[in-house]
Amino acid sequence: MKANYGYKDGSGEYFITIDTDLCNACGKCVSACKYNVFKVDEDPNDPLSDKQVALVVDKQRTNIKYVCAPCKPVNREYTLPCVEACEAKAIKHSW
Ligand code: SF4
Ligand code: SF4
Repeated sequence: MKANYGYKDGSGEYFITIDTDLCNACGKCVSACKYNVFKVDEDPNDPLSDKQVALVVDKQRTNIKYVCAPCKPVNREYTLPCVEACEAKAIKHSW
């Protein structure tokens, strides 16, 4: 399942998408993000499963535009630290 966290406003769309089918709960995104955007926990979107997955923490969900701004690529060759850390390729950003 693809879990979308974020919002859009007049300046654009700011979403982090985590593919929970690909996520193996390794925690590397948690370590890679120095702004504490991620945690690994049971998936509240899938109450029938006790599988651990990466989640965007509640307090960052309405703050993505600002908290992720320092990581924003200046050219297309640069990869976001969280995306680069995820060997399972479970993380995508909308920008
Ligand atoms: S883009 Fe940067 S601040 Fe945003 S979640 Fe990824 S590592 Fe964290
Ligand atoms: S790095 Fe990728 S596979 Fe590991 S916990 Fe984060 S999203 Fe899941």
